[in-house]
Amino acid sequence: MAIAEIIAIGSELLLGETQDTNTVFILKELRNLGVNVYRTLMIGDNPPRIASAIREAFTRADIVITTGGLGPTVDDPTREATALAFDCPVEYREEEWDRIVKYFLNLGRKLPSNNNKRQAFFPTLATVIPNPVGTAPAYYIHQDDKLMISLPGVPSEMRFLLMNEVIPLIRNIYPSESTMLVKTLHTFGMGESVVDEMVSELEKSTNPTLGLSAKQGITDLRITAYGEDYHDAAQKLQQFEMAIRNILGNNIYGVDDETLDQVVNDLLEKNKIQLDIYEFGMKNQLSSLFRAEFLRDIRQDPWELFEDRSIEAIKRYFEQQRAAEFPTLVCIKDSSDKNFTEISLLFFLKNQLYQSSRKFNSRIFSDDYISLAALDLIRNSIQN
Ligand code: AMP
Ligand code: MG
Repeated sequence: MAIAEIIAIGSELLLGETQDTNTVFILKELRNLGVNVYRTLMIGDNPPRIASAIREAFTRADIVITTGGLGPTVDDPTREATALAFDCPVEYREEEWDRIVKYFLNLGRKLPSNNNKRQAFFPTLATVIPNPVGTAPAYYIHQDDKLMISLPGVPSEMRFLLMNEVIPLIRNIYPSESTMLVKTLHTFGMGESVVDEMVSELEKSTNPTLGLSAKQGITDLRITAYGEDYHDAAQKLQQFEMAIRNILGNNIYGVDDETLDQVVNDLLEKNKIQLDIYEFGMKNQLSSLFRAEFLRDIRQDPWELFEDRSIEAIKRYFEQQRAAEFPTLVCIKDSSDKNFTEISLLFFLKNQLYQSSRKFNSRIFSDDYISLAALDLIRNSIQN
């Protein structure tokens, strides 16, 4: 399997002014191709530094893809840097200049200035990749089993050339059926370190690999499987997923693009459940999570029901009043401590009370955490 590195070129990237979305896009496409990427780099518009970055990348990788720095201005350094890296001069290509002139004329624009002529210079080793969607032609150099590809920085042009020219080129040079498949399993509420402990043995696996990431109470498990071909990768992935599911069971609420609110709304639909929702100390936050057809009754801060406003008293009230009636979600938010928010969640379903209470650090967790906790309680109760 080929190994690639990506170099994003542009001083504006290093100043934090432009987000390097090109690298992310290229990474996903290479992943789909089964090309391995172990590192990427962001670098400013400086030819010698870029040249040494290219050389260094080739000590590890078969393929180096650069984006940016192909514009018409003096500070667009990629052509020169590539020539330095490959120890060859740059040369003027008349036919590319003609193509650029034609591009301008076709768009009814003024003839390009002499500046644009820079875009008709290429390292002598380069093969041009014509750019039908912009002025900056891309190019590649294929030498000694190494493939260097330079793409423009403008995202729409970069994507067009990547999809239409570069991917077929890589497929052609590195013909391989091998595939990499990625699947992400989502859990809520256990915390990354707890999940980590449970699956620590599986985390040692080298194919598939397992990676964890956490945000706002959701811990994701990302499985990456390589295979000789699609079937092989799919089989490896499935077996590994089973092993994870054996350990985490119902703690996994969804995969890939599935969100907890989607999953729960679907469960409500399937089980024909309508909810009564009582929210205390919140602003319609919970009722807005559900499709209208699954809501029977919504109450905001119905304190008038209670003489005693303690959580215990509220809980007793619902236990006495509602247990045998409609599916009811009660959430009481206590933010009297400004750093920690405490929530008590009750869910009555078919004469059963399911409950959870959680305390979270409101300096780093948003109130979305409450929504997720409520959704997860409902999910667990229905699937119980
Ligand atoms: P360049 O090819 O370096 O002249 O880049 C042209 C424009 O493309 C820049 O002004 C940026 O707005 C954009 N651009 C360059 N590099 C990237 C990148 N890595 N990700 C997203 N946009 C980029
Ligand atoms: Mg630039």
